Amino acid sequence: MTRKSANMARIRPVPSVASEPVPDLSFIVPAFNEEDNIAETLRRIEAEAGQLVARHEIILIDDGSSDATFETAIQAGRAMPLRVIRLSRNFGKEQAIMAGLQASKGAAVVILDADLQEPLCHLKTMLEHRAAGYEMIFATRAHRADEGLSKRLFTRLFYWLLNRGAETEIPPDARDFRLMDRKVVNALCALPERNRFMKGLYGWVGFRSIAVPIELERRQNGTSKFGFRGLMRLGMTGMTSFTNWPLRVWTGIGFAIAALAILYGLWITARTLIFGVDVPGWSTLTVAIFLLGGVQLISIGVLGEYLARIFTEVKGRPGFIIADDVVSAPRGL
Ligand code: UDP
Ligand code: MG
Repeated sequence: MTRKSANMARIRPVPSVASEPVPDLSFIVPAFNEEDNIAETLRRIEAEAGQLVARHEIILIDDGSSDATFETAIQAGRAMPLRVIRLSRNFGKEQAIMAGLQASKGAAVVILDADLQEPLCHLKTMLEHRAAGYEMIFATRAHRADEGLSKRLFTRLFYWLLNRGAETEIPPDARDFRLMDRKVVNALCALPERNRFMKGLYGWVGFRSIAVPIELERRQNGTSKFGFRGLMRLGMTGMTSFTNWPLRVWTGIGFAIAALAILYGLWITARTLIFGVDVPGWSTLTVAIFLLGGVQLISIGVLGEYLARIFTEVKGRPGFIIADDVVSAPRGL
């Protein structure tokens, strides 16, 4: 289907009407190349939302898909209160979520993946928690049995390192699937940083939070969009935005190495004075040079990571660019 097909003719730009009623719930769905999942996802959200709240909106963010996600969504969502925001290229899930949060108008917001991995049946529980006064209700994975051992170990290590000295505990098994009050969304949108690690920010903004353990379903179609490199990049953003200790730890390491070097120097002097000169000591020298060289390069690398983050922020480019913003159905519910 081309973008100029008959269906598109019915699409009108988002009206800027201030008097429109506020939806009870905004669903935010980031999607990147999800043409096989998106229609079913929208259908399920619509069915579930209809039972849970009186008024809702669905905001789909097409994160620069190269397939027909955008067209399929509009086609499938003709009878729904759907708004589709197409980003000008792939900016990553965190930015897609931000685009959705900024566009949302609901009194509460639900973030949901487009691949149907998170069972919607938990929404009811989440809404009950909200009625009980919680402002952020987030899903946590009950287990990670579906992941390989190396990924599990890597994740454990990452969150352990991340939580060293972090201001707020970042729960390792939390998902983006969550229900947030408007207050939380406003707080998140007000943060000026662009290069975002959402899982950290959710915790940083605070508010009354509670976890809901869920069983993840298998991905219906397509594959995970987060490969090793994607996860590494996200991990680096997380580390540089939520920790300072990798910058500071070098002072301690430097002092320790210097102290050891002094002790060793004293020992060599004493030994030479007592026993006279013996072996030339080239091997010790070589090891010391390489070790120190390595340690220095690592510390410079760590500085580089933080500097790169500062550089990105200082440039002040927007986190995402919107190419299209359309509603596909009458909104006067
Ligand atoms: N996603 C996105 N932009 C990206 C990568 C992923 O909007 O650059 C979306 C993706 O379409 C899906 C959600 O983020 O709706 C979660 O992605 P995925 O299922 O690949 O991650 P996983 O479930 O493996 O963590
Ligand atoms: Mg998934």
